[in-house]
Amino acid sequence: MISASLIDALSNIPAAAYMGAIVLFILSLGGLSHPETARRGNLYGMIGMAIAIAATFLLANPWSVTGSGWALVLVPLLAGGAIGAVMAQRVAMTGMPQLVALLHSFVGLAAVLVGVASAMDSGAPHTGPEAVVHQLEIWVGVAIGAVTFTGSVVAWGKLRGTFSGRPLLLPGRHALNAVAALGLVVGAAAYVHFSAAGHGAAAVGGLDPALALLIANAVLSGLLGLHLVAAIGGADMPVVVSLLNSYSGWAAASAGFMLSNDLLIVTGALVGSSGAILSKIMCDAMNRSIWSVVFGGFGAQSGAAPAKTGDGRGRDDVIETTTAQVAEQARAAGSIVIVPGYGLAVARAQHLVHEFTSRLRADGVNVRYAIHPVAGRLPGHMNVLLAEAGVPYDIVLEMDEINEDLPETDLVLVIGANDIVNPGAETDASSPIYGMPVLQVWKSAQVVVFKRGMSAGYAGVQNPLFFEGNTSMMFGDAKDSLAGILATLQG
Ligand code: NDP
Repeated sequence: MISASLIDALSNIPAAAYMGAIVLFILSLGGLSHPETARRGNLYGMIGMAIAIAATFLLANPWSVTGSGWALVLVPLLAGGAIGAVMAQRVAMTGMPQLVALLHSFVGLAAVLVGVASAMDSGAPHTGPEAVVHQLEIWVGVAIGAVTFTGSVVAWGKLRGTFSGRPLLLPGRHALNAVAALGLVVGAAAYVHFSAAGHGAAAVGGLDPALALLIANAVLSGLLGLHLVAAIGGADMPVVVSLLNSYSGWAAASAGFMLSNDLLIVTGALVGSSGAILSKIMCDAMNRSIWSVVFGGFGAQSGAAPAKTGDGRGRDDVIETTTAQVAEQARAAGSIVIVPGYGLAVARAQHLVHEFTSRLRADGVNVRYAIHPVAGRLPGHMNVLLAEAGVPYDIVLEMDEINEDLPETDLVLVIGANDIVNPGAETDASSPIYGMPVLQVWKSAQVVVFKRGMSAGYAGVQNPLFFEGNTSMMFGDAKDSLAGILATLQG
């Protein structure tokens, strides 16, 4: 039996532990801002989370003989931990964006459930300023949570190809959004009014009117989230992913307010604000205004020509090359720039590309990587892949750092990338990616594009680069092609 004084002492630990966890989360975010410190950042985050879970465990008072704290914390912890571990083990690098979207949806759903549970807490005060603040916290938390939940589910579907990547443009969609937003504001006032009347007041179909309103809030906000994300075109998905990341942070913060949990408030705010900053960076990188992305339909306004999926040209109109020819070009080149894209992740060719780079650098060739901010399917996707393979950070350059060097580059190898090297983004006003800055690889002396066939990239548009006179196409899986080139170089 544990003595009462020990239990007393233990009860002070959670607050101190929460503080420690907050500091670790801040250090974690700092570390994650650069590839070189990202591993350390992750470690801080993991330690912080372990401390936070342990402290929550203590708060549940598991030492209480009569309390049900053990079961309430342990069962979901073990079940959720086991499911998470299996999912993380199984997910391929190409499935990460969908997994992240799914995890965001869980945060949203959790905020909705916490909101409903808080509203049903009969011990909470119904009147007075404190009660009104709490009721508004619940209302806002449920709204943010539901928008995050359905928005993330749609994003998940779009990223895995279950739903079409094309924007859903309902007639009068902005008016629909405005009406929904107005409904939520009016609903908030009604919710406070009915909550003040207390539980059991004039039941609607057996349901407390305040609770009925809260459920209506969840449904309306859910529809709003669904509509907002469905209206966003494929090419703008990177911003949606980071925006939903931000929303999930605010949803967690609102759950923190509802539960009066400081750690959740601070952590949620950290995720929310860092996601907002990332969204801004992604918008700048794509030359989009954040509002045009949030309210959807960018690049597909009525009147604009439909997105082109082809211009009649095909495989017969390109120059095909072989692994032996590319090996020859690489040997002869003084400077090479490698542009990795989503196809590199699909082919899992990052280790081979690193081997190829090391070999050429050992022979004195200046090999560097050019990273487009929206390459792949997640912010930082390519940096993670290359870091995993051990590519040195100092030869991995951002688009702005390398674009002006491309005209002086002998050879550019575009490996599994498409939209991010599409010259149509600069010249074709009807293209959904028009206005997005791209890597101007066509300005280099020679370009080799590694891909399996002539299919379009994520935005679904034809790429005129493939038909340029200085471009040749290396058809096949990127991993097989690189293995063939390496074999020739080593032979
Ligand atoms: P793209 O999707 O434009 O192109 C990828 C190319 O890889 C395809 O054309 C495909 O051609 C090729 N490919 C696929 N598998 C292989 C393989 N095994 N071997 C060789 N090639 C392969 O990717 P990018 O990275 O160029 O551009 C990213 C796109 O994704 C942008 O439109 C961006 O907006 C969008 N996006 C980005 C997100 C982010 O956060 N970064 C999030 C959501 C969307 P083929 O099938 O012929 O082989």
